[in-house]
Amino acid sequence: MDNFEVMVIGAGHAGIEASLACARLGVKTIMLTLDINSIGRMSCNPAIGGVGKGQLVKDLDALGGAMGVAADACAIQFRILNSSRGAAVQSSRAQIDMRKYSRYMQKLLLHQKNLFIKEAQAYKLIVSDGKVSGVITDKGVIRAGCVIICPGTFLDGLIHVGLKHFSGGRINEPACLALADNLKELGFSILRFKTGTCPRLDKNTISYSQLIRQDGDLIPKSFSFSTKNIKRKQVPCYITYTNKKTHQIIRNNLNRSPLYSGIIKATGVRYCPSIEDKIVKFADKERHQVFLEPEGERVNDIYLNGVSTSLPEDVQLEILHSIEGLEKAKVIRFGYGIEHLVVEPTQLYPTLETKLIKNLYLAGQINGTTGYEEAAAQGLIAGINAAGRINKKEPFILDRTSSYIGVLIDDLTTKGTLEPYRMFTSRVEYRLIIREDNADLRLAKMGFDLGLVSKNDYQRTEKKIKGIKEGLVFLKNSRVKPTKSINTKLARLNCAPLKRVVSLEELLKRPQISIKDLSLLHKLKPGISESAWQQVAIGVKYAGFIQRQSRDVERFKHLEKIRLPLGFDYSGLSGISREIREKLAKFKPLNLGQASRISGITPVAISLLMVYLKKLKGETVS
Ligand SMILES: Cc1cc2nc3c(=O)[nH]c(=O)nc-3n(C[C@H](O)[C@H](O)[C@H](O)COP(=O)(O)OP(=O)(O)OC[C@H]3O[C@@H](n4cnc5c(N)ncnc54)[C@H](O)[C@@H]3O)c2cc1C
Repeated sequence: MDNFEVMVIGAGHAGIEASLACARLGVKTIMLTLDINSIGRMSCNPAIGGVGKGQLVKDLDALGGAMGVAADACAIQFRILNSSRGAAVQSSRAQIDMRKYSRYMQKLLLHQKNLFIKEAQAYKLIVSDGKVSGVITDKGVIRAGCVIICPGTFLDGLIHVGLKHFSGGRINEPACLALADNLKELGFSILRFKTGTCPRLDKNTISYSQLIRQDGDLIPKSFSFSTKNIKRKQVPCYITYTNKKTHQIIRNNLNRSPLYSGIIKATGVRYCPSIEDKIVKFADKERHQVFLEPEGERVNDIYLNGVSTSLPEDVQLEILHSIEGLEKAKVIRFGYGIEHLVVEPTQLYPTLETKLIKNLYLAGQINGTTGYEEAAAQGLIAGINAAGRINKKEPFILDRTSSYIGVLIDDLTTKGTLEPYRMFTSRVEYRLIIREDNADLRLAKMGFDLGLVSKNDYQRTEKKIKGIKEGLVFLKNSRVKPTKSINTKLARLNCAPLKRVVSLEELLKRPQISIKDLSLLHKLKPGISESAWQQVAIGVKYAGFIQRQSRDVERFKHLEKIRLPLGFDYSGLSGISREIREKLAKFKPLNLGQASRISGITPVAISLLMVYLKKLKGETVS
């Protein structure tokens, strides 16, 4: 019988980050996967990042996760989305060579000290006295102090293509039924979600002359703060549109759609609807955009982003051939839908440990999320906490003011989700403070203190912080006189002339003036990196908004600091309704802030709870 400190079930995006975190934190870890060759497989689109998701990858990277570095190594096109909008909503996205990504992750894991990888299927958890101590697999019993379950869409997965359906975890991969049954038997409250994927076409059968070409950014920007620069030829994507004929084909065949004939009962992804959903729900739209995204540099597969579907294969072909540029396209793989089991995530602490079973953690799609980045972010947090439990460390919890990861996990564990959860910038209240560009400033110290960020990487962040401070002082202390030459340069920038001496900081506040423009008006202090100057510029331009949001953050943190002891007895609280007392007892919030965000918990209940806690501590109640 094998003995490990942590076992990670699953080698997808959550499992990878969880395993690497544990092993890198010195914990003897075993990772189970159904197939070693499927490590890091991208089940759906060949891309990492996007609005809200790019921020998750940057957060992960700053904390010492692997996804950002791997994406940089395997990307074939880089773009910053929302680049014409404010810094708060700009997000990185990259097309990825998905086979290369999977190979990259396999190599990384196979060479990781303290990490053992085994092809085996987890059947059943070994639980005694409310604590997990191992897993029964098809290859025997494996003991582990902590277990992290990251099984993606595999738990009781049911694949749909038209009116045909069959058991599967992903196409051509088996579903895991035993573990799904075991989680139900153990008493977890279960939901069932649905997601879907698009057809893949042979690139040599597409007529590109009719399509709109979409290139990557001229200067590619990396995901990882540690990637120096990216010098690589980028591959283009292409855009086409559905049309009236396409929509009519879909309408004519809705009776053969598992979604619209009532066969699929699970809740689908609202923000990433299938093409049949788009035609029904947005009936007045005359066309929908379709992106043709290569799955790699040396493969023929083109992913048809925007045409996720579970319609029958003959209907899929008819749809595709009705679209401009795809009239003669050959299909390599058809789209399909999949229903799978989800564990209701309010049954987790923000460490991702389950409330029901000690030392058992869940991460990724199993918690109701959809997406590689959401999965990876949870994997890292579960890994850090499981390793922390073994190493007898304090729980590692990120709050909503610290990061996108903090918001994601707080949303899942306090509010739960009744549909597949995808990250967006709009979910983040403090997004002027929590941005992609400053993830290292927010999180690298935490990653370094944990032992996941190297000294070298942390020193780079420290240098950046020093540069930002020096840059700000320099701008405050440097003055520009209203000379003819300066005013001519300002006119070229469509700026009003100077009438008095001003500081460089004042000049930078003008919306038309960037750091680069400033350097044409006055020599800038040398030795400060471009990324530090970028931070200086954001700090100066958004100073008022950032200050206001910083005050909101302080108010938020006040409630977050008031801890609710584990095992707190809510039944004796007078003045609070029985329904609220029962909800608090069920959710087991760790602090007043978290309690305040549980649906149905009123501000009055929070005030009463605060008074009660103060009385408990013997403080004067004001
Ligand atoms: C058809 C389809 C469509 C999708 N569409 C989208 C989309 O539109 N947008 C989007 O953002 N995301 C989409 N996704 C979701 C995305 O792929 C997942 O969110 C992401 O991969 C989840 O990561 P994960 O680590 O939780 O699980 P996965 O990446 O699925 O990895 C699961 C791992 O667990 C292993 N495993 C499972 N059960 C066991 C067991 N009992 N024992 C041992 N190993 C086990 C598997 O071998 C695998 O390694 C789609 C997924 C599928 C399958």
